[in-house]
Amino acid sequence: MTTVEDANFALSKILDAGSKKNLIELAWIKNVRVNIPRVIITLALPSFANSQRDRIVQEVRQSLLNFEDITDVQIEVDNNMSQSNQEGENNLKELQRIKEIKHIIAISSGKGGVGKSTIAVNLACSLAKLGLETGLLDADIYGPNTPSMLGVTEENPKVTEGSGNDQRLIPVNKYGISIVSMGFLIEEGQPVIWRGPMLNSIIRQFLYQVEWSNLDFLVIDLPPGTGDAQISLAQSVPISGAIVVTTPQQVSLQDARRGLSMFKQLGVPILGVVENMTAFIPPDMPNKKYEIFGKGAGKILASENNLPLLAQIPIEIPLVNESNKGIPISISEPSKESSIKFSELADLIKKQFID
Ligand code: ADP
Repeated sequence: MTTVEDANFALSKILDAGSKKNLIELAWIKNVRVNIPRVIITLALPSFANSQRDRIVQEVRQSLLNFEDITDVQIEVDNNMSQSNQEGENNLKELQRIKEIKHIIAISSGKGGVGKSTIAVNLACSLAKLGLETGLLDADIYGPNTPSMLGVTEENPKVTEGSGNDQRLIPVNKYGISIVSMGFLIEEGQPVIWRGPMLNSIIRQFLYQVEWSNLDFLVIDLPPGTGDAQISLAQSVPISGAIVVTTPQQVSLQDARRGLSMFKQLGVPILGVVENMTAFIPPDMPNKKYEIFGKGAGKILASENNLPLLAQIPIEIPLVNESNKGIPISISEPSKESSIKFSELADLIKKQFID
């Protein structure tokens, strides 16, 4: 006859996708009661693990139904964690926790592939190099690639002691930056189809259920576009400044304009525009520049909105190569022009908010 120990043993094979610890160890499954042919368990997932709920419920059910004498699995949700309770209880805590972060800088772009993550990662590294406590939140749920740019894809963020919503994620540390990414929480091979409300709660949890140390700056790599994620983020946290990234092509203007007007409508302060891939610098002829993607979009976007053009980042081969190896250029080759531009951008931001 199946015992509680047998059931616990079977359940201990189910893992959290982020920390790779099992659900019993994490205290996400409690009160296993076996009353053949029925098993009743209590599920106490912290909200940062909500994205895994469906998969976990399915695996719990399946692993218990594998026992011949079990035909009924009942899954209760921890009463202390009902939605309203959780929100009411967290409001105060959340406001306090956000005080651990002095300034939030959001990096955004109207569309993907313009170098938003590259800029977020290198800006974070450059701020850390200035001795500032820096965090990086990869909220790009469609393509969370900052872990690979920083060489931390193999790292599993740890979870603090406790259970349910008392637990917090401990960021991964690299190059002096505290990193948390959707990439740590997304299960490999799973399509990322988040509905608006879920996206909203995930981003809030990212901010509030992470053990940030006292940060001077949290750089957020936003998902591209002007959808729910950006809107909910801008509405739920005080963003000190948003940076809009564009490439120099005129055709990029329309997307970038949409991004800018979204922040304006939401009342989010905009720091300025960063133009990426401004000109190609051949490695063997560092004095030459080829404007292979046309020119002008950054300048036009900035001037029509009365904003500064904060930086123009060239195209450099090490920016791709080193990044593929998990070392941002501002760490591996600080004397390259793009690294210099990133550190000037960090200086500018430091001056605006800290000095
Ligand atoms: P996004 O976050 O906007 O989707 P990424 O930062 O992921 O864009 O950049 C897309 C690709 O372009 C990556 O392979 C990145 O290494 C490369 N890339 C971005 N900026 C530059 C640059 N200035 N020079 C060379 N390659 C770049």
